[in-house]
Amino acid sequence: MAGECAACGGKCCRWAKGFWNPSMLTKKEIEAIRKLTGRDDFYTRDQGHFVMKNKGRGNINCIFLDESSRMCPIYESRPLECELFPLDIKMDGGKLVWSLCLKCPAAEKAVKDAGIREDFERMAKELDAVVAKKYPKESIMEFATFFDHESEEIKYLKICESKIRL
Ligand code: SF4
Ligand code: SF4
Repeated sequence: MAGECAACGGKCCRWAKGFWNPSMLTKKEIEAIRKLTGRDDFYTRDQGHFVMKNKGRGNINCIFLDESSRMCPIYESRPLECELFPLDIKMDGGKLVWSLCLKCPAAEKAVKDAGIREDFERMAKELDAVVAKKYPKESIMEFATFFDHESEEIKYLKICESKIRL
């Protein structure tokens, strides 16, 4: 996926309307970023969730995005949503499922290519263990139901069931 990311130039860190949303943050993630950066001005609340701010003054890019290198300066403490993207955990029929956000150019290819879908499925299965170890069940639930109200704007492709049990 590295090739696609280089070509796309990090659209997932640039929140143009209809492309992506500010990343959700858990309290633990806020603490980790505070510790790393010494900043306390990077988050706000949206519909009961903590979310990352953009740069403001007409600049919709993530507050942390390095504009010249297009790299993430908080990479080791980036939120779960950033770490998983374009994979995402969603609630579907009372179960957690792994889905792909089709706004990502790399993920879009999976619609027509079964081989790419299998690669993402392998990735999702590995990430199950990472997510279950790193996040408490409440955070996973919050993450899985985050931005459901915008699901008509952002299309997802279901990949596989998650093994995480809430
Ligand atoms: S939107 Fe997709 S292809 Fe573009 S940088 Fe993000 S993960 Fe990579
Ligand atoms: S925290 Fe990092 S990876 Fe996440 S949107 Fe901001 S710059 Fe991108």
